[in-house]
Amino acid sequence: MATTESSSDTGSIDTSDIEEAAPNSRTVSALTEVMTVLDSIGRARNADDLFLVNSGSGSEYLVDTRTGSCECKWKQYNPTKECKHQKRVAFATGERPIPQWVDDEALDDQFGMHVDGEPRQAVADGGVTQVRFDAGGVTDPTEDPLAVHSEDEPRTKRAKREDIDVSFLAKPGRYEIHSASDSRYEVDVLEETCSCPDVAERCKHLRRVDIEIKAKRVPRPDGKLPDA
Ligand SMILES: [Zn+2]
Ligand SMILES: [Zn+2]
Repeated sequence: MATTESSSDTGSIDTSDIEEAAPNSRTVSALTEVMTVLDSIGRARNADDLFLVNSGSGSEYLVDTRTGSCECKWKQYNPTKECKHQKRVAFATGERPIPQWVDDEALDDQFGMHVDGEPRQAVADGGVTQVRFDAGGVTDPTEDPLAVHSEDEPRTKRAKREDIDVSFLAKPGRYEIHSASDSRYEVDVLEETCSCPDVAERCKHLRRVDIEIKAKRVPRPDGKLPDA
């Protein structure tokens, strides 16, 4: 069922880049609708140009970026045009920059979470920059251990973003957490427990303590000061 025509396959400059300069409804859908792009499972496994796109309604379509095909109905009737799934794959993998006119807030949260590439955003001078999904994330992730990455799990994102104070309790593995909401919890990294009400296996406090230990911002679980 794959068509041999391809509207965009190789190179970063092609006609579809020009098309993205102005909003079109499929482009808006590709950017804002809930979709998940997967590149390494099921039928997309071990094939660089195959992607599975799961739509918010639960449908799954295989997109082939080499042949420019998609399994959706719309594509069958419009074989020479790009459907929203193909567009989404191009944006999610960073193959095509996210256009400037799109409001960051409207971008689907799932963007770039399950594919190897990082989405890129067009900037005023015509260049591109990596998209950051947190409002304050201007820091270099290699320098700031609390920089949020798009692939972080939601709980890890909260662990990094929230104003959480961690202090060592002078007992092996114990840390006191002082949360932004002024609650105090005790984390035991040896037992992997926290006194907060979160029933998740690893709450955001445990995650935050791990991050702080790795970043050498608090003493190690054995009480030794981090070696510089
Ligand atoms: Zn499609
Ligand atoms: Zn907790």
